Parts: sequence; structure tokens; C-alpha cells
Amino acid sequence: MGFFDKIKSGLTKTRNKISDMINSVVSSFREVDEEMLEELEEALILSDMGADAAHEVIEQLRREVAAQRLKDPEQVREQLASILAGMLRGEPEEDAAFRSTMGLRINTCPSIILVVGVNGVGKTTSIGKLANLLAKEGKRVILAAGDTFRAAAAEQLGIWAERAGVEIVRHEEGSDPASVVYDAIQAAKSRGCNVIICDTAGRLHNKSNLMRELEKISRVIDRELPGADRETLLVLDATTGQNALMQAKSFKESVSVTGLVLAKLDGTAKGGIVIAIKRELDVPVRFVCVGEGIDDLLPFDADDFAKALF
Ligand code: GDP
Repeated sequence: MGFFDKIKSGLTKTRNKISDMINSVVSSFREVDEEMLEELEEALILSDMGADAAHEVIEQLRREVAAQRLKDPEQVREQLASILAGMLRGEPEEDAAFRSTMGLRINTCPSIILVVGVNGVGKTTSIGKLANLLAKEGKRVILAAGDTFRAAAAEQLGIWAERAGVEIVRHEEGSDPASVVYDAIQAAKSRGCNVIICDTAGRLHNKSNLMRELEKISRVIDRELPGADRETLLVLDATTGQNALMQAKSFKESVSVTGLVLAKLDGTAKGGIVIAIKRELDVPVRFVCVGEGIDDLLPFDADDFAKALF
């Protein structure tokens, strides 16, 4: 199955909800008018897009309706898809020398990807899938089991490393995460690995602790890998809808997040949250997860995503 078919099938629940609502609006009007636009706005809010994003979409739609003199309610559907795609698209990359791998800046050897997120959102699983995706691109990947708080975390990550056929560095439970990262960096240097992916603990309840831990890891990276490309990916659970947005805001206050991974999109009708997140956070969505399998992490494509929503 190609990426588009996967995203399409992963978004089935969201699409059914959105299209049910939009169909019912579209079919109950004979001509596009203000009342129809208002009903559409309500439908979009209910898809977990959030009131602000829904309002912005409808404002744009209103302008298009006037500019193109759209009368047929059916034409509105196509316009909506193209407006949403526009809102989801990232900024064009200005730096000509920049090469990206699935939207990630990981050109130095090694480069490092820190993965952060609250426990249970799908962090471990996403790291395993990402390792697999990068390995398939020909990258030599090494994982750093930086969540030393939970014994099960390193164990689970070990299983994923095996599945993806990548290396892993882990210490015993309770050890210092920064020292795991240090060892992973040394291993990556001596073995010529391209990418280090670091798991981190997911305890948001004690933000200052988490921040200290991430700062310490960051200092180790600065010292051991000066000038290396670095990404910080925040994993969010799409099934939590607007709560995912709150989590993202909270993380962004403490950590400089460079990209988002939206997990469990297959399990929710709240996929509209992607639009709210993109609009409010100004952090690009890099990957979406649409299942528990190793191939279920997909690089994010705004046009495909918008197309798959309708
Ligand atoms: P962590 O605590 O953040 O590391 O979360 P895990 O990676 O262990 O995932 C928590 C649960 O969510 C596991 O049962 C995963 O199989 C499940 N999960 C993770 N990503 C997805 C996804 O994209 N779709 C579905 N349906 N389940 C997922």
C-alpha cells in the first residue's frame, strides 16, 4: 500500500465524521449562502479543528465564494480541501544547501533526533517505526534508551530495535539518561552511524525535573556533537484531540520542538486536530501514525492529508 492509501485508510474515522457533517450541510442547501457557511463552520468545529481554525477556514471560503461567484454547494467541498491543504503546508525551505530526509534536517554524520512526549502517547512505537523508515532509506541508525525511569521502556525499545534491525544503547533502570545519550554518541561515532534517535522520559507532571533532564542531555549533545544536525520531535496522541494541543503548548514552553509526530490517527475521528495544531503552534507536523505496525508511520504530506480528509 502506498503512503496515500495508508493515510486515506488511517483517516477513515475522521473522514467519515467530517464528510457526514459536510454532506449533510451541502445536501440541505440548494445554493451557497451565508447560512450554509455558518453551518459549515459549526461542522468543522465539531471535527476537533477548534473554533479559531474553523473560523479561519470559513473566512477563506467566504472570500473564494465571492471571488469565483460559487453558487453550487457541491463546489464548496473542493474549495474546502484546497483551503485545508494550504493551511497545513509548511513554509517553503529557503536554504538551498539544505537537504531534508522526510522533512528532517539530519545531514551530519551522526545527526541526532530527540523524541519527547508524555507516557502513553505512542513515543516508543513511533521511535521504532522512525528507525525502520530511516534504515530503509539506507541510514545506519542507533537508538538511545533515554527513558531510564521505566524499566519496561528500554525493554520495549529493545524489541523495536530488533524489529527495525537497528542498534541500541541502554543502561539499567534508574541510571542517568544523559549518560545513555553520551554512550550512544560514542557508539555512533565509532561505528559510523548516521542517526541517533533518543528516547526520553515522559513525565510531564514534574515539568522542572523534565526540563533539567532534557537540558542535561542537551549539554552532552552540545559538547560531544558540536555542529551536528539536531531535531526535537514531540509525539502527540491524536485521540486526545484538544488535549494534545494543550500538551504541545506546554512542551513548547520548555523545549524547542522542531517537529511533531501525531500518533494514533487511525483510532480517532478527531483528526481535525492536525489543523488546530498546525495553526496554533507554528511547528511543522513531520509524521503521522496510522496503526501499530512497523510501517504505519508516514511522512506528513499536507496535500495528501487534506485530500484524504474528504
Ligand atoms: P509511550 O508510552 O509513549 O512510549 O507509548 P507506546 O509507544 O508504548 O504506545 C502506547 C500504546 O499505543 C501501545 O499499545 C501502542 O501499540 C499504541 N499505539 C502507538 N501508536 C499507535 C498508532 O498510530 N495507532 C494505534 N492504533 N495504536 C498506536
